[in-house]
This record gives sequence, structure tokens and C-alpha cells, in this order.
Amino acid sequence: MPTTPPDATPPRPLAVPAPRPRPAWDAWDTEPARLPTGAKALIATLVPGRARPLARRERPRLTRSRLTDDDLAAIAGVVGAGNATRDDDTRALHLGGKSTPDLLRRRLDDPQPAPDAVILPAGHDEVAAVVSICDARGIAVVPFGGGTSVVGGVEPERGAHRAVVALDLVRTAALLDLDETSLLATFGAGTTGPQAEQMLAAHGYTIGHFPQSFEYASLGGYAATRSSGQASRGYGRFEDLVHALRIAAPAGELALGRSPASAAGPDLRQVFLGSEGALGVLTEITVRIRPAGAHRDRVSRLDVPRLRRGCLCAARGDAARHPSHRPAAER
Ligand SMILES: Cc1cc2nc3c(=O)[nH]c(=O)nc-3n(C[C@H](O)[C@H](O)[C@H](O)COP(=O)(O)OP(=O)(O)OC[C@H]3O[C@@H](n4cnc5c(N)ncnc54)[C@H](O)[C@@H]3O)c2cc1C
Repeated sequence: MPTTPPDATPPRPLAVPAPRPRPAWDAWDTEPARLPTGAKALIATLVPGRARPLARRERPRLTRSRLTDDDLAAIAGVVGAGNATRDDDTRALHLGGKSTPDLLRRRLDDPQPAPDAVILPAGHDEVAAVVSICDARGIAVVPFGGGTSVVGGVEPERGAHRAVVALDLVRTAALLDLDETSLLATFGAGTTGPQAEQMLAAHGYTIGHFPQSFEYASLGGYAATRSSGQASRGYGRFEDLVHALRIAAPAGELALGRSPASAAGPDLRQVFLGSEGALGVLTEITVRIRPAGAHRDRVSRLDVPRLRRGCLCAARGDAARHPSHRPAAER
């Protein structure tokens, strides 16, 4: 049954989650990292001349901000003064992703390339206005979801631009719409996995997407990286779950994938899925949802001693299975 009568305008957003903490600048978690033995061994190979663990700095050294007062004032005019900052502590939380080399590099004495400012827009309209200002002023924009990238996707690269800002989508976190007839839910792109699941659980639904970065990664990040999770062979990879996208790009707004299905032309959603923020900012994501069933926590595991044997086992299992029954994730 729909949450609201069909003739009533549902409130938007339907729910806003509690704020979430940002992980520390050199750790996966909010607490400073204790380097595991494997990471210590990596230092010797990754950082030439460093056979010993790098001591943790109180805070990383950062490059100076190149954003002018005038740039900052123009952006703050859209998002509010408190949501556009050149503050070093905030810039330090947006140095890049969370791969082990990323985290280790930040302990070096050299100044770390940092975004010239961190911008926190509250929703699609603010994102669109910030993108437009930055485009007009020659400022690069790096969308920043959970910041869990392991491929350099959130590095603050200026390229040919005068400056670069990290566009942190944390304030967009919300459940915007819930269509219980079509089983679709629309979220602000900065909503994290746990926030989305918690807001859906209140209505008895799940997305069913559980990557290992679930704790911090955002739905916008899932879409921009074509994320795959532990239950993806059952529920589908994240790109299979995306029904619609709302996008703020320098050229304007795009709303893709509204109809239930279409046989016409190329599916432009596919261009933005996996685009890593290079083409525009995903501001709203509509995903397919399922009733949160009693079987959600049932996970089975099959250990195979050799990769080759595991591949054969998986392929034979796939071939023997009805196409609608997918197995669990294969690792
Ligand atoms: C410990 C660990 C475990 C991981 N496990 C998995 C796993 O199981 N499966 C998996 O697929 N990946 C995994 N990853 C990789 C990473 O978590 C995923 O790529 C995740 O989907 C990124 O989401 P995010 O919100 O953190 O995105 P971010 O790291 O913030 O951004 C990733 C990329 O997407 C872009 N982006 C982010 N939000 C938007 C937006 N709203 N609009 C446009 N572009 C955007 C960024 O600019 C960047 O290019 C793991 C990473 C770590 C550190």
C-alpha cells in the first residue's frame, strides 16, 4: 500500500538520517589507525627509503588553498557560510580515498595535495548552483560521497583548472520518496548504506546492497563506481538496482530513467553509472527495493581450495540454475 493516499502530496523528504561521523584522515574508522603488520611491510615497498613505519602526524601537511575570497563568497552565497570552508581540518578529511597507499602517503612530511575548499550543498538545487558557479570561474569540482574510493576517484586534481573543490554530499542524505506500489525509493545521493537501510527498514524494505565499504560509502558513490556487494549475485549489482538518476552537470539538469522500462534508444543512465563523477554530480538516486524478508541474514559459504576449481564450480552452478535464481557473490 502507498505510504500516502494517491491524491495527497507526500512530504519531501520523507526521512532525514542522523548525521554520520567522517572517518579520520589516515584511517578507515573515526579513530586513528593502528597499522597492521601487513601495512607496515607495505611501507618499505611503497615509500622508497622508508624501511620503518611512518610515525603518525597530529595532522597532515596540506598545500595552501588557491580559492580566492571572492570565489568562496560566491559559493557561500548558495550553501551558506558554514558550508563552504577552506579550514585545514575539514580539507584534511577530503584528501582522497581509503586505499592503504592513500592512508600511508598522508603520513609523509611533504605537503599533501588538498582540495582548495570543501563545499557542502544541501540538495539538488544547491549542487546545481555550485556546479554552475565553479564552471563559470574555472574551478574543478570533485564529487565526494563516502570518500572510500580505492582508485584515486576523490583525489583533488586541479588539472587545467585554477582551483579544485571537494563537493561533499553528506547534507543531501535523505529518503526523498517511497513508492510502495512500484517498489522504488529515492534517496539523496550522499545517503550512506546504513542510513538508507535504516530508513527503509522503518517501512519493512531493503535495497540489499552490502559492499565491504557499506559503513561509509554513499548511494551516489555506489552508482558512480558500479559497486558490487556481498549479496550482489542475489539482489543484483548496484547498477542493476538503479531505476532513475537526477544529475546536476555544468550544462544543466538531467533526469534519467523515469519510466518503468523503455525499448527506445540508448539508456543514458549507463553513461553516468561508473562515470566516477567526471560527467556531472548525481544528486538523487531512485533504486529498486525489496521487502526485508526473514531470509536476509542467511548466508551460506562454500570454500574451494583452488581458484580454478572455484571458477568451474561457479560456472557449472550458473549453467545448471534457472536464470532467475542467482547464486551468492563469488570471491
Ligand atoms: C575497505 C574498503 C572496502 C571496499 N569494498 C568494496 C566492495 O565490496 N565493493 C565495491 O564495489 N567497492 C568496494 N570498495 C570501493 C569503494 O568503497 C566503492 O567504490 C564505493 O562504491 C565508493 O562509494 P563512496 O560513496 O565512498 O564514493 P567516493 O569514494 O566518495 O567516490 C568514488 C567516486 O565516485 C564519485 N562520486 C561519489 N559520489 C558521487 C555523486 N553523488 N555523483 C557523481 N560522482 C560521485 C567520486 O567523485 C569518485 O570518483 C571498498 C573500499 C574500501 C576502502
